Amino acid sequence: MNHILPELPYAYDALEPYIDARTMEIHHTKHHQTYIDKLNVAVKGQEHIQKFSAEKLIRNLNEIPETIRTAVRNHGGGHINHSFFWPILKKGVDQKGPAVDAIVNKFDSFDHFKATFSSTATLLFGSGWAWLVLNRGELEIVTTPNQDSPLSQGKIPILGLDVWEHAYYLKYQNRRPEYIEAFFNVINWDKVNENFEAATG
Ligand code: MN
Repeated sequence: MNHILPELPYAYDALEPYIDARTMEIHHTKHHQTYIDKLNVAVKGQEHIQKFSAEKLIRNLNEIPETIRTAVRNHGGGHINHSFFWPILKKGVDQKGPAVDAIVNKFDSFDHFKATFSSTATLLFGSGWAWLVLNRGELEIVTTPNQDSPLSQGKIPILGLDVWEHAYYLKYQNRRPEYIEAFFNVINWDKVNENFEAATG
């Protein structure tokens, strides 16, 4: 299987002014594409895993030959993390639904969840992701370094935020907290609810 770049479900400028068009275009066509290209190189000639989806590769890293395991972990992870990320971004979606109810139930209030998620994402050292995951049926806020996916740990991502500098540097430079604040204006709660229902259903 050749892994290919999924189309963005919106225009590059659809998230302005919170996430700028230039960042979205470079992030999608350069960064995401590069993960895919390098994943394709890594799995080339590896007959028994060439038909695996990126998700299957990442869920089963221990089955990947050691010589390409790090490449699959990094580039396969980069591919599925970004493929997960694009559809959970959208402007103007009401913050409601089963995932929001479960968040309020778990974290006492939405504001408390937002504060905890934001500080977790701010404090993540270096490059990585902040996530809301379902872990054995419980919502948890976790981080992963680099392009590691929660799926490799058996956790199901519900919501995720790319906090690599490439996701925000053009607009926000070093001001990661401003980017995280902006992110909360472009969460596609319809998609997050769908993720939550798929994970709990
Ligand atoms: Mn990224």
